[in-house]
Amino acid sequence: MSFLEISGLHKRYGPVAALAGVDLDVASGSRTAIVGPSGCGKTTLLRLIAGFEAPDQGRIVLDGQVLANGGAAVPAHRRGIGVVAQDGALFPHLTIGDNIGFGMGRGEDKRTERIVELAYIVGLDKAILKRRPHELSGGQQQRVALARAMAMKPRLMLLDEPFSALDTGLRASMRKAVAELLEAAGITTILVTHDQAEALSFAGQVAVMRDGKFSQVGTPRDLYLKPKDRMIAEFLGDAIILPASISGGFANSPLGRIAVDTNDSRDVARIMLRPEQIGLKRTSREGMSGTPDMLFGEVTESEFAGSTCTIAVRLLNNFDPPDAAAIGNTPLILRKPGMDAPAVGEIVRLTVSGKAH
Ligand code: ATP
Repeated sequence: MSFLEISGLHKRYGPVAALAGVDLDVASGSRTAIVGPSGCGKTTLLRLIAGFEAPDQGRIVLDGQVLANGGAAVPAHRRGIGVVAQDGALFPHLTIGDNIGFGMGRGEDKRTERIVELAYIVGLDKAILKRRPHELSGGQQQRVALARAMAMKPRLMLLDEPFSALDTGLRASMRKAVAELLEAAGITTILVTHDQAEALSFAGQVAVMRDGKFSQVGTPRDLYLKPKDRMIAEFLGDAIILPASISGGFANSPLGRIAVDTNDSRDVARIMLRPEQIGLKRTSREGMSGTPDMLFGEVTESEFAGSTCTIAVRLLNNFDPPDAAAIGNTPLILRKPGMDAPAVGEIVRLTVSGKAH
């Protein structure tokens, strides 16, 4: 039995089916990330788990306790669930210290010490504890909200875009710190985010939501390398999608014969590679006289963006998959390290590593 079990959850707002049959199992002490396009129902699902709203249909069971069953059974404040909302939702009239200590109770032993410790953990200076929420930046407010939720020692933590007001560098370090903190405290966590890289790095289980239900749930690695369909492939990162015929574990594709992770046979198929599976090596037109199955291309665009460079490569070989006409001369778009990326007009040799999906 899972720690959190959600089955057949439905929720409508007038004509809008915000949730249309959600099933999800979450293991105790694990971290799950929910990703999906805007409006697909992510926040609604968190609100139902937290108990801010009741489902029209379906069950939510936490640690064997039925929280909702086609209506709310247990009120929000008795669920033992910590929530960090998108806007932080701090109490404006309380100091930061009292916001963090809100769930602890006035008489709690070592209350002040714990408040200072939690503030430290989320990266807030002690001096800030006497201020009020309106005197803090958006990012600082989010961190206070996180500390407040941690202080309540919840059995389940729900995070709705908790890092969205932070800038890139701070965001990555906070994400790591929060993951470690939750891990150490053994708190089961569900994170909602727009950011696919954040989902993949934060969680052990990622659930992709679309139109009010989950279209794929799995480990970050499985979802990234074996997405169920094109939408998921493209949602989770850059994807190179090519026409191919497949049989016996190999694909005949515009990139030549490459291994695929299936034993299916199909004359007309689409395969997917992640750009990092394609290696580039500079060469010249003269250098193209290798064996016939070596793969060459010409760089047609090169856009430098600091740590990465986006490169368009037009293939020079003529491997012919069944419906190659479908892609015509569409170049491959690859993101490579910005340093030493090939320039427009250069000839490159391409290599493919790993299997296509
Ligand atoms: P975002 O990523 O933009 O925050 P989301 O995936 O969290 O989106 P929800 O906020 O759960 O999406 O909304 C799902 C759908 O339900 C949307 O179409 C939204 O307009 C609708 N909706 C949500 N809350 C309400 C409400 N209180 N009244 C009416 N419609 C609502």
